[in-house]
Amino acid sequence: MARPLTLPGLVNAHSHAFQRALRGRAAGSDFWAWREGMLEEAERQTAETVRALYASTYREMRAAGFTAVGEFHYLGLETAIAAAEAASEAGIALVCVYAAYARGGLPRMRQESVAAYLADLEALRARGIALAVAPHSVRACPRSWLEELGRYAREESIPLHVHAGEQPREVEECLSEHGMRPIELLADCGCLGERTTVVHATHANGAELDLLRDSGSTICVCPTTEADLGDGFLPAVRVKHRGIRLCIGSDSNIRIDPLEELRQLEGIARRQDGRRKVFPTDELWEIGSANGASALGLETWADVEIDRAHRSLEGVGQEHLPAALIAGCGADVVVAPG
Ligand SMILES: [Zn+2]
Repeated sequence: MARPLTLPGLVNAHSHAFQRALRGRAAGSDFWAWREGMLEEAERQTAETVRALYASTYREMRAAGFTAVGEFHYLGLETAIAAAEAASEAGIALVCVYAAYARGGLPRMRQESVAAYLADLEALRARGIALAVAPHSVRACPRSWLEELGRYAREESIPLHVHAGEQPREVEECLSEHGMRPIELLADCGCLGERTTVVHATHANGAELDLLRDSGSTICVCPTTEADLGDGFLPAVRVKHRGIRLCIGSDSNIRIDPLEELRQLEGIARRQDGRRKVFPTDELWEIGSANGASALGLETWADVEIDRAHRSLEGVGQEHLPAALIAGCGADVVVAPG
């Protein structure tokens, strides 16, 4: 009888659970066209639909080995509460990464002021929901919002998450509005630091990567979504050489499989570098688990158990299990919680 294998649970540091509904039917020839369909889906969400859809999406995450999730939420306060309820129903730890949205998007995504945003945050905190501050992006938040939110996160010692560098157009718009690139603007506004996670950083240049390194910020890479949306590749080798901390997210939830996120990250790095094992197995597991927990400000999160008898592990020796999991298994190799 094979010995069971227990490993630190995987942590999903970046999710928009409602986007799970778009799989297979999302149209659009590029990110911006896809975004139109995504906004339509966002618009029709209610507390009831969120409770039902998120609970089933979170159950899928839990079964795939994610034991904690950072839900980057931009559908308003009532649905944020519903998302937290869905997570407890599904048995996954949730950090509400509550988005600040000043301009663009849908009316339901926006707050009138930073004070109104912080009032929402306090209402969530009063319910005992774990929180991160999240200026949605440099598209959605002007400089004054970024400065205030950066200061708030620092003073309160809570994590700050922000999308940046996902699309070339976002970089161009930032350059024309601010005369600097998105991650340069975040640095300038006091939004980088050891509790900061920049989601994507796909189009970060060398100077921006240096800023992330020097500030101790984390990058959350979401390879299955970045592939699906045609975003591009993380500059994985340059990130690795700088020693920038990485974590993973299932983002649009087109796919819910932490092993595949890790495999794609390593695959990108191998293609860029022309060699193997750019990220050693232990490091990949840390990216998938502990780094995500620290990005969300979690000190503890549940372990996962691996089904040693799963057919995709037949003939694999005990010492090769972790590497074989990442190289050759789907998330169904995780023992689903009873
Ligand atoms: Zn996102």
